[in-house]
Order: sequence, then structure tokens, then C-alpha cells
Amino acid sequence: MKKMSIIKVNTVASRGMAMGQAMIFDKPQLTASRKIISPDKVEGELARYRQAVDTAVAQVSSLSNQSDVFAAYADLIQDYALTELVENNIKNELQNCELAVENAIRTFSDMLAAMDDEYMRERAVDIRDIGYRLLSILQGRDVHAPVSCAGESDKPLIIIADDLSPSDTIKMDKSKIAGFVTQRGGITGHVAIIARSMGIPAFVGVSGIMDLVADDSSVILDSVNGEIILNPDEVMREEFLGRKLRWEEKQKLLLHYGKKPAFTIDGKPVKVLANAGCVEDVKCAAEYGADGIGLFRTEFLYMNSKHFPTEEEQFAVYKEAAVSFNKEITIRTLDIGGDKALPYFPFEPEENPFLGWRAIRISLSMQSVFKTHLRAILRAGFFGKLRIMYPMITGYEELVQANEILEECKAELAAEGKPFDRDIQVGIMIETPAAVILAHDFAHHVNFFSIGTNDLTQYILAVDRGNRNVAGLYNTFHPAVLKSIHHIIKAGHSAGIEVGMCGEFAADFEATRLLVGMGLDEFSVAAASVPEIKQRIRNISVAEANASAAELRDCYTQKCVDKIIADS
Ligand code: PEP
Ligand code: MG
Repeated sequence: MKKMSIIKVNTVASRGMAMGQAMIFDKPQLTASRKIISPDKVEGELARYRQAVDTAVAQVSSLSNQSDVFAAYADLIQDYALTELVENNIKNELQNCELAVENAIRTFSDMLAAMDDEYMRERAVDIRDIGYRLLSILQGRDVHAPVSCAGESDKPLIIIADDLSPSDTIKMDKSKIAGFVTQRGGITGHVAIIARSMGIPAFVGVSGIMDLVADDSSVILDSVNGEIILNPDEVMREEFLGRKLRWEEKQKLLLHYGKKPAFTIDGKPVKVLANAGCVEDVKCAAEYGADGIGLFRTEFLYMNSKHFPTEEEQFAVYKEAAVSFNKEITIRTLDIGGDKALPYFPFEPEENPFLGWRAIRISLSMQSVFKTHLRAILRAGFFGKLRIMYPMITGYEELVQANEILEECKAELAAEGKPFDRDIQVGIMIETPAAVILAHDFAHHVNFFSIGTNDLTQYILAVDRGNRNVAGLYNTFHPAVLKSIHHIIKAGHSAGIEVGMCGEFAADFEATRLLVGMGLDEFSVAAASVPEIKQRIRNISVAEANASAAELRDCYTQKCVDKIIADS
């Protein structure tokens, strides 16, 4: 019997518990002939490439009913920049098709992998996946072939891989797979998304795991408690089965009660909404019992497109979101720049992109893009309950200018006779120190505030949120950040408006009580966290939570904050 070992892991991609047999996933290596060609072969290689693209598009289109991930692949395969890179390699560098594809994919994926934004970094995996598919086609190999060992075992399988692409994942026999662990990848990658949608546990970024696990080792994945247990003994197995049963019972209960509104012990209603990046997220939020969408990130629509999305394209998406969820949906206007790039719009390199041209600053300086965006939101608002939220506001004039453009859009739509929401609510994100300081003034000119703690923390503490060298200093529990949050809530309430929070801090269980004590009206969190945050709220007494929040007033050290949190 091999020795039992427990590995503690923080990078949970999908929460759950499973026990099974390890299956090491080794991707077959492609051994295509890569060579330099003579000029008379160029046309032939270009034709092979176009043929391979057509085949790949047909393949992914047939997979798109199994996962939305593949719907986006067809666009990526035909991406203008990728095509240009490959064709240039063939025409000017005289590379054969295989070599040209391999080099272009490497250039493209290296560029994405070097980006600060985690979402864009994850897209490097997609590009490599597409490269693998194109090379397989060029070699005449069947990329659809099922993973062989998946058919041989009757035990649930825990897949252990260096990295998994959506194409690898989709061809696995899902009825046998109980969980994933990968050495690479991040929690916003598509493997993580697929694992969440399958409702199975997954860890990503567990370096060295492939050296520790043999092909048929017994493995327990407990991503609720952040543990991978290799070769568990009988006692551990028994203990785990009990743990799993209790967790499953709790999930059933949470989901059941998640649909009901959350009231504190003393009867105060607190809304728990969800964050979304696409229509599927909105539908998922409805299933988890979210009280609405507190943040719909529109930038993903722009980032996944090949051009600035047209008014009709955007209208279709926002309208579908509005009609699929009969609750308030907060559409945040375009928040690009900083670490979020657009594949079709070159941003001038900046020394400090987070202090540069981003979010509302871009919208106000590219007014036709902003107007297209606002018109689509206004029109979709007619079909449901949408509200508009401007990101990265620092000055009153920005709000005025944005609202003037909004009024122009309303006037145009009225003149065109198109239906739209005339009374759409408008709020701002409070995520800059300037907005905190002016919060009392802003509160009289907007319908709601939403606190963006992800940016607020980086700006208050002067700590770049994506810089690993200072990651240890990024701390939303810092007294200065907590006092800013409290100040914003009081400012909003003094003007009679609701204050929500859509940054990641809203989902931090340790903060729930303090935030309720500060008077936060709305928490907006990942859909899967909605039931649990609601449950926490139900166990909080406002009177006691208020007392904890009041203690913050005289607190200026981390030790003091830690004590308040520990006591609460
Ligand atoms: C925030 O800054 O807290 C926020 C929700 O916005 P983003 O993370 O998209 O910048
Ligand atoms: Mg932000």
C-alpha cells in the first residue's frame, strides 16, 4: 500500500468533494514535419492552411452544443491577426504549413500569456488548443478520439494533467469523471468553467502534482477544504465519506434556502446579488437564487468580439439577459484599459495603465462607441429591469458628461420611435480615492453606489492588484480600506440611496458580519456563493454587527482590525 499524503491547495477552480482513481492525462505529442519550403510551394501550403481552417471550424461548430466555449472557437480560428501571422510565415518566411501554424500560435499565445489580466492570460490556453487542433488536422489525426483509459475503469476518475484544454475536456467520458487537477491554468480558465458547470471539484495551478501521482493511485479531492489526499488509508476514506455526505446535505439545504430572501436575525432584509460576465452567468445566478445582478461586466462582450460590438449585437445580449431574469440587472458600462485589452483596438503602451486611459475615461473620449453602448442598454431596458453603472469615476464632471451623453441617446431613440427605458436608474462604482472623498456629494446625484473593492484596495493602498511583488500588501482588511468602505456607505445613506458592493470582498465570509454592521444594502458575488452569503446573513444580528463596525472608528492598526474580525 502506497503511503498516504495530504496536499494543501489554495487554487480552487470548482468546489466539491470526490474520491476516485487517478488518470494521468498525457496529451499525444504531434510529430508533424516542420520545414522550410521553396517559393513554388507557397500557394499549395496556403491552400492546405485554408482547408485546415475550414475543417477546424466545422469541427468546433459541431461541438458548440456541448459547451459554449466552442462557439467562440470558430471566431478565434478565423481570427484576422492569427490568419495574417500564419500566412506571413508561409509567404515571407517560406515555412511549411505546420511550422507556420506552430510559430504563429506560439507568438500569439506568448503575447496573451504575458498580459496582466488573468482572463486574457487564460485565453492563451484556447489559442494553444486551436493550434493543436489545426496541427492534428494537417497531420490527418483524429482530435475527437476519446481518451482511451476513460473507457477502461469502472471507478470514478480523477484526471491529473499538466494542463487541459476545452477540447481535451470535451472528449472525456463525463459520466466517469469525478474531478480534475491540473499543474497549470487559473481559476478563470475554461477548464475551471467546465468543471463548475459539471458540478465537480477541480484544482488548477498545482505545480508538481504529476510527479506525485501514479496512474491508478487512489485520490480524494476535497476542494471545499482545499485538500488533495493521495493514497488515503481506510480511516481517511471513512472520514471523507462522512465529510462528503455532510457537505452534500448542506448544499441541498443552501440551495433550497438560497432561493428565499435573506433577513438578519433581527429582521433586516439584505440583498444578495450575483456578478455576471455573460448571459449564461445571469441564468446561473437565477438558479442560485440571486436577488438580481449587481455587476454585469460588459467588457467581456467587447473582448470576445473581433470588432467593437454593434448596437444590435449588444442589444441582443442585454435584452436576453433582461428577459431571462426578472430581477434588477446592473449593467456596468465598458471597463476596458488598465489590464483589459481589446484584440482589435491598439492601446498606446502606458507606463502606469491602471492610472491611465481606462473605463469611463475611454468612454468619454470615444463618444460614438459610448453612444452605441448606451443606446443598446437603454433599448434592452425596455424589456426588463436594467440599471446603468459607470466605472472608475473620479470627478463630478465625468458623471455630468456621461449623463449628458445618456440624455442625447434618449433623445435620439425617442426621435427614431424606438422603445427604451426613459427612467433607467444610474449609479456609479466607488473605486477611486477621489470618489470616496466626494462620496457625500456624488450621493445626491446618482441612484445608487456600488463599491468596487478590487480597484479601491489597489488605489487606496497604492498596491498594483496584478503585481506579484506586492501581492502581500494587497489587503482589503487594511484599516484605511475598511474605513473608506464605511464612509461610502454612510455617505450613500445620508442621501437616501442604496449602497452595494461588487468587488471580491463582498464574497469574503470573514467580512460579511462587518459589512452588515456598516449597513451595506447589497452584496454582489459569484453566483455559486449566493446561497452561502445569504445563510451567513441570516445568522447575523444587526445590533451586534453595528457594534463591531463602530469599533472600527478608533482602530488604525492591523492588529486591531484582526481582533474585531476574530471577535465577530
Ligand atoms: C472592482 O474594482 O472591485 C470591480 C468590481 O471591478 P473590476 O474588478 O472589474 O475592476
Ligand atoms: Mg474596478
